[in-house]
Amino acid sequence: MAIERTLSIIKPDATKRNLTGKINAKFEDAGLRIIAQKRIQLTKDQAGKFYEVHAARPFYDELCEFMASGPVVVQVLEGEGAIGKNREVMGATNPADAAAGTIRAEFAESVGENSVHGSDAPETAAEEIAFYFSGLELVG
Ligand code: ADP
Ligand code: MG
Repeated sequence: MAIERTLSIIKPDATKRNLTGKINAKFEDAGLRIIAQKRIQLTKDQAGKFYEVHAARPFYDELCEFMASGPVVVQVLEGEGAIGKNREVMGATNPADAAAGTIRAEFAESVGENSVHGSDAPETAAEEIAFYFSGLELVG
């Protein structure tokens, strides 16, 4: 499988509980390399732009409020099949359905406050990485 890059976000519920290092250890233990990372505070408008694809969903406003409620850590993960591998390490959206040992099974508080975001396909990964990082910040 090819080396891929994917966009990851450690969400406000997790940064608030000081879980950045424990979550990063899950990525590294799975063979994903954190090749770029920064801690930022999104405005609600910025969160809304990032999650525009969900604008028609009933939870959109709540999701944007939540993503702007505290700092997030945005990251680029790299590795063999990184997009799918990251989704495996994250676990299902709803922590009640997430497999044992996944980030969401261990750390997520609810289906909304679920600790991490991960891109779901090569096209969205490229778009989402470009949303947060310039080419100069990606040194591999
Ligand atoms: P994923 O993050 O697993 O790719 P989605 O893309 O479907 O999941 O949803 C984006 C985010 O929206 C989720 O991670 C979660 O924070 C929030 N979300 C999804 N479904 C719900 C829901 N039923 N109620 C509240 N928030 C939700
Ligand atoms: Mg998604």
